[in-house]
Amino acid sequence: MPHLPQAALILVGHGSTLNPDSSQPTYQHAETIRRQEIFGEIACAFWKEEPSLREVLGMVRSRTVFVVPNFISEGYFTQEVIPRELRLTGKTTQIEEQTVHYCDPVGIHPSMTKLLLQRADDLAPGVPRNQCSLIIVGHGTGLNDQSTKAIKDQVAHIQSLNLGFAEVLDAYMEEPPLVADWASLTTAPHVLVVPFFIADGLHSFQDIPVLLGIEAEPTAAASQMAVFRQNPHALQGRSLYYSSAIGTEPMLAEVMVDQVEAFIKSHGLDVAAMPAPPEEASIPEPYEQIGEILIRRTGDGISLLHVEDASSQELLEIFRHPADALEIAKYDAEGAFRPLKSAPTLRRGWIMDLTSEADLRQALDYFYPAALGNWRHPQVTPLRETLQRQTGMYRVTGLLTDDEAQELVETHCCDSKCLRIILWPLNETTPLRLSKAAAGPSAIPLNCIELCNLVVAAARTVVKSRKPSAVPASP
Ligand code: SF4
Repeated sequence: MPHLPQAALILVGHGSTLNPDSSQPTYQHAETIRRQEIFGEIACAFWKEEPSLREVLGMVRSRTVFVVPNFISEGYFTQEVIPRELRLTGKTTQIEEQTVHYCDPVGIHPSMTKLLLQRADDLAPGVPRNQCSLIIVGHGTGLNDQSTKAIKDQVAHIQSLNLGFAEVLDAYMEEPPLVADWASLTTAPHVLVVPFFIADGLHSFQDIPVLLGIEAEPTAAASQMAVFRQNPHALQGRSLYYSSAIGTEPMLAEVMVDQVEAFIKSHGLDVAAMPAPPEEASIPEPYEQIGEILIRRTGDGISLLHVEDASSQELLEIFRHPADALEIAKYDAEGAFRPLKSAPTLRRGWIMDLTSEADLRQALDYFYPAALGNWRHPQVTPLRETLQRQTGMYRVTGLLTDDEAQELVETHCCDSKCLRIILWPLNETTPLRLSKAAAGPSAIPLNCIELCNLVVAAARTVVKSRKPSAVPASP
């Protein structure tokens, strides 16, 4: 793989508003690739978490951008949602000054077979393969037939290799063959179950163990458990082994880089002709606050800390790496997950000492995703336009009335819930009723450039909870 200091890599994941572990593997792989210094810039974006797909291009200044979906299959998200949200029109799209190349998702890379087999062998060391049934588990959904294709392809391929397993089969959470029927689907005394998921999130860590019978009800998230589950589980006269999601495999970082290399080769891109990005402007010194964070410049470097810890006599926990911001910002003081990073609930008790402007920008991108990009290049979309482009289960939000929209914004976007300053109107001619406190002159504003997915989801709840007679036909 050639080094591409003039290009940016954007990893796109699903994310979750409920499970703190969903975005973790995407960030971990991004950090692994960052250490390899292959790309000039790296950013992550999510469908269900910040930064959103609409914000992420503004987070990088490179003129050449490679987008790799951290998704397990071709399907609804990779074919519909990601292109729509990024405004892509094909494999390569010119968006203002950026040339955006859309690579294949990680899950269809040929190395996934090797990773699956490695996971299976690591699960039950010493147990002969002919004593093992291997089940590869996916979600299964009616939204797009392609979503199960990657798993069926993997199973067919592993079967064709005749590697000695008693049997190899696929199973799903929501369509037959159902993973809940694992015991009747298999015959061997040892059953290896590998979730073909990107993260140890809601489905693979909390839902599937219940379907398998390992747990009676969903447990806490993986990162909130003292120990990861122990194998094997003695169930229904068999030994059941359950692995973590395939997407947590560290080698997936190589697969992501491979997808970029494959794109460059298959599209004959001239790496030497890729233009250099413009110089990154430093954050001017008069700016000493962003959201709940103080930016303190000293002779030795830059320190970040909670504004309420500015004169604290308590001992603050010291961090020195920008990626530590991900963990600091993940939970509030009570340990609750913070899906909205601009909620005024950042915990106190820490200080982050950084040595460069680049580290400062990276840390701020983790504390307040896309805030710097939305400050410098805000690209605003009216609420009505955001709702009208929704598809799938969120299409119904197009039916929200103006009054309901105003109320929704007043409830979810007020200063006590979110520190972002709203730049968008209801529609081209109607302003919002809600007025929010402006950032002080020395504070970098946290701009909100369009309705976030948390409020889009709340809009769906409003429309769905109307009495049936009040719901007009779907658009
Ligand atoms: S839509 Fe509302 S809650 Fe969401 S980021 Fe913007 S201001 Fe905050």
